[in-house]
Amino acid sequence: MSEQGVMVVISGFSGSGKGTLMKALLERYPNYALSVSCTTRAPRPGEVNGRDYYFVSEEEFCRMIRDGELVEYACYCGRYYGTPRAYVEQRMAEGKDVLLEIEIQGALQIKEKFPETVLIFVMPPSAAELKNRLCGRGTETEDVINARLHRAVEEAQDMDRYDYLLVNDDLESCVSLLHQVIQSQHFKAASQKERIDTIRQELKSFT
Ligand code: 5GP
Repeated sequence: MSEQGVMVVISGFSGSGKGTLMKALLERYPNYALSVSCTTRAPRPGEVNGRDYYFVSEEEFCRMIRDGELVEYACYCGRYYGTPRAYVEQRMAEGKDVLLEIEIQGALQIKEKFPETVLIFVMPPSAAELKNRLCGRGTETEDVINARLHRAVEEAQDMDRYDYLLVNDDLESCVSLLHQVIQSQHFKAASQKERIDTIRQELKSFT
């Protein structure tokens, strides 16, 4: 099993329930660390700076890009979102599996820079269910809901570039599937070079 943590990207249409899924995964299993992103969008009621996001100005966001402090960033519905580099690198080195709940442009940037990252796309059981969930939240204006539905149409174009696709129908079974998919990454032969070298040496010593 690899000792370094794996980087896991989880994307899904706005309203796919990926936030709830992440929360359940973190509560149920100890070895995950959730990356907290920076964004230039305003906090929603109940959101806490440093827990849900780091809410920053556009000037600060641009500075972070310039200084190489973000592993990836993207513009989503007119607002910037990015993943702070330091936290991800530190927790992976400690052996934690780091979860990045980010949208598709960021996911593809990460895959290009770190091909061993596992990309998981979470989808709702149907498009109608997605619309219900978005309207049922009651936190967004109609314009924002429409922008998010348009964005979902665009995102659906690239869903097949992900490594895994999970349907978030039943929360419990989706959490346990997600955990299994992530944990299987630790057993990839490519991430166990040290173990392979050791057994090769040991076997040679018998001949
Ligand atoms: P929301 O405004 O609903 O919190 O997030 C909007 C979208 O931005 C979601 O798809 C979310 O996954 C994505 N997102 C959140 N943080 C990041 C990030 O650091 N980078 C990128 N590329 N997308 C992010």
